[in-house]
Amino acid sequence: MRVYLDHSATTPLDPAVGEAMRPFLGEAFGNPSSLHTSGRAARAAVDTARRDVAALFAAEPSEVVFTGSGTEADNLALVGAFEADTSRRHFVASAIEHPAVLETLKYLQTRGASSSLVRPGADGIVTVEAVAAALRADTRLVSVMAANNVVGTLQPVAEIGRLCRGQGVLFHTDAVQAAGKVPLDLRRDSIDLLSASAHKLHGPKGIGALVVRAGVKLAPIVHGGGQERGLRSATENVAAIAGFGAAARLAREQGAEEATRLVRLRDRLIERLAAATPSVRLLGHRYRRLPGHLCLGLEGQEGETIRLLMALDEEGIEVSTGSACSASHAGQPSHVLVAMGLDPIRARGSLRLTLGRFNTEADVDRFLDVFPKTLAGLRPVMSRPFATA
Ligand code: PLP
Repeated sequence: MRVYLDHSATTPLDPAVGEAMRPFLGEAFGNPSSLHTSGRAARAAVDTARRDVAALFAAEPSEVVFTGSGTEADNLALVGAFEADTSRRHFVASAIEHPAVLETLKYLQTRGASSSLVRPGADGIVTVEAVAAALRADTRLVSVMAANNVVGTLQPVAEIGRLCRGQGVLFHTDAVQAAGKVPLDLRRDSIDLLSASAHKLHGPKGIGALVVRAGVKLAPIVHGGGQERGLRSATENVAAIAGFGAAARLAREQGAEEATRLVRLRDRLIERLAAATPSVRLLGHRYRRLPGHLCLGLEGQEGETIRLLMALDEEGIEVSTGSACSASHAGQPSHVLVAMGLDPIRARGSLRLTLGRFNTEADVDRFLDVFPKTLAGLRPVMSRPFATA
């Protein structure tokens, strides 16, 4: 039996989500833009999903724009805001954003925008004061993620939202990791733009959403037939949208209970690891973190993370180093850990364990049984720092 502890990379489809998608992969194949019966059935499914996704963020259905991914939602938020009004061209983001935000800001620089990156504290949290200090008269938008994908820390979204609203600056939050795991409320938290992605909450891959608060002006980045209120032209991916809706509904109904259970499993991991492997330390704030998210620093064994990951994989345990989004950069220091002040050596050596809906106490105990032995098994090589072979 394999133990999957990498839910921040992606999650298994909930069987109920699969059921909700099935008709639209088969007999219910209509195009939502068609006026006939098949088209109207598809449109009804998209409308239902739009209501369910909106409800997860206490938004209006008309505020949800379905996109092809969380990455696309981030791109639409930033590029769309820039192109809708270029009179203010300065952007502020946290230095620990996902590449979907950081690389988009780099792209916008080629179009005449500028950006300031705000570093978090050593606990992996960006303060509202640090964001306030980065604002300028020409700031158009602030982007701070709701939860970080590497260390799992929760950011003070509502405080930053209030600050931005008071200054007349748009506030975007990448909620790809947080959606369905911690409560988010578009109006209470003063959010203008919110990105989400279904595959992080037991929904399908390749479907995301940008929630655009009524009144916020955006320019499209995909042009064509005018679907999604002209903000994302393309025939809707009806099955994936239906799956996203079902996943959002499950998260809304079960999210609070699931979070309590995952916090218990997470804390069991933290306490037992502290006792069994003193060289391992928790990175990021102890409590202000996603319910099922742990990021471990491997003191003295930073260079061995990939070997450790593969040794755990042989034992049937799947975890990640830093972030799956940077698998092509495996072994590189994480920009998140560097921004938190870790030196580049330490920033290379982290292990990310992220729990999800179907993990059990037995999974956690299996990890706790295997991990100390696997870690100890790596030591002989570490004691030969100058070995060349
Ligand atoms: N933003 C964050 C914080 C993420 O963790 C990820 C994926 O890991 C994304 C954006 C990208 O989402 P998607 O995989 O749907 O493109």
